[in-house]
Amino acid sequence: MSAELETIIGLEVHAQMNTKTKMFCSCDNDAFGKAPNTTVCPVCMGHPGTLPAPNGEAVKKAVIAALALKGTVNAQNHFDRKHYFYPDLPCGFQISQYDFPLASGGTVSFVVRDDSGQVVNEERCGITRLHMENDAGKLTHRGSKTLCDYNRAGTPLMEIVTEPDLRSPEEAVAFAQELRRILIAVGASDADMFKGMMRFDASISLREKGAKDLNPRSEIKNLNSFKALEKALKYEEKRLRKEWEKNGGPLPRDITVGWMDEEEKTKMLREKETADDYRYFPEPDIPPLTFTKEDIENIRKELPALPQERKKQYMDLGLDEALAVQLIDQPELRRIFDAVYKKTNDAKRSSGLVLTQLLGFLKAEEKEISDAPGVEAMVELAGKIGSGTISANAGKDVLEKMVQTGKTASQIIEEEGMQQISDDSAIETLVLKAMDSNPQAIESFKKGKEAALGAIVGWVMKESKGQANPAKVNEILRKQLEN
Ligand code: ZN
Ligand code: MN
Repeated sequence: MSAELETIIGLEVHAQMNTKTKMFCSCDNDAFGKAPNTTVCPVCMGHPGTLPAPNGEAVKKAVIAALALKGTVNAQNHFDRKHYFYPDLPCGFQISQYDFPLASGGTVSFVVRDDSGQVVNEERCGITRLHMENDAGKLTHRGSKTLCDYNRAGTPLMEIVTEPDLRSPEEAVAFAQELRRILIAVGASDADMFKGMMRFDASISLREKGAKDLNPRSEIKNLNSFKALEKALKYEEKRLRKEWEKNGGPLPRDITVGWMDEEEKTKMLREKETADDYRYFPEPDIPPLTFTKEDIENIRKELPALPQERKKQYMDLGLDEALAVQLIDQPELRRIFDAVYKKTNDAKRSSGLVLTQLLGFLKAEEKEISDAPGVEAMVELAGKIGSGTISANAGKDVLEKMVQTGKTASQIIEEEGMQQISDDSAIETLVLKAMDSNPQAIESFKKGKEAALGAIVGWVMKESKGQANPAKVNEILRKQLEN
């Protein structure tokens, strides 16, 4: 019988920082979609005689991220050269941080869910370190030719290394998703997976349950999506278990593998390189970075609410967990909700309008959140409902038309003549007419049947094609009955 094995996973996450310019030069950092080799300069192309100058905005964003991950920013840290040769690396080395990283330690709490979205358990993953470095360019292989695009070369990256605290592929993905939320929430990275702004290297090994020591690991390189992360880890976990059965133990030494997206399997690349292979040495062209306690505390003061805190705030307003998560995961939706809530001061109503109706109409029209009426348009609609210009029911129709046509609430209300009738004398006329037409209802009411009034209100609503303000109708009817 084979021993019971447990899976040990740790991640290295590369996240692109959303700065204006690159890490060590003033080239545009937003190269996505631009023609190859157009956002480059002698510095990021590694021309001899050029000098790198660290980007203050990038350093600040990295500090913010480190603080959000509950890490300690190291008062003294510096850049190092990490040498390797590859055509996408114009300098022949990467400027990174080796033995004195920007920040050490930290922890991330996260929630693991099953396929139906139910919370299975809550976990924590330790953070070993966070350091800054610059990205390499991009190679495109076409047949026997390889094309180099250096637009991405020099892009500021944060590398976040975790402790080997993750125990399953599902946990690794849940952690990575929470990390992404945090980086977005603090504005350090846009972490757009589609644009490759967040990439993972995942290390996985097995050991007998109860054992303390770690065994040699398999490192899966360059996973670009949560799906790839999960599939690759599941594949490698299974493969390592089979190997263990066959050899009666763990891998003899660390290995590096690649994930083949199409074939859905890992492929051996090489035995893992060690630090010696990179011939690290301190970057001589950049002075060490120093931070005072005050520097750090000033940045800490700017830290916005983290996703878990935000989730709690939404749940405290009365939203359920799933809706709260929807809001923290979709910044555009959150901006709309927050603005509508600010206007209405009513979480239930805001959630009905934004999370039920708006999302429902978008789905029906096969549209995205980015196609939704803007924050201002939604606030205007909420205002029209709040002020009684239209009823909540009519508001639903107006919103549907807003989504379909892109018109504003006032335009639609005007064009369709949907204003709610709140004018006292107009409603009084309708109420008197209703009372005349429903003498039995009045009789029943006088005999003590409260519910009989419903018939009269209903008659007024029908007569006014739903445009009478129901609260006003009730109020005026009561007054008439008291006379
Ligand atoms: Zn440049
Ligand atoms: Mn790296």
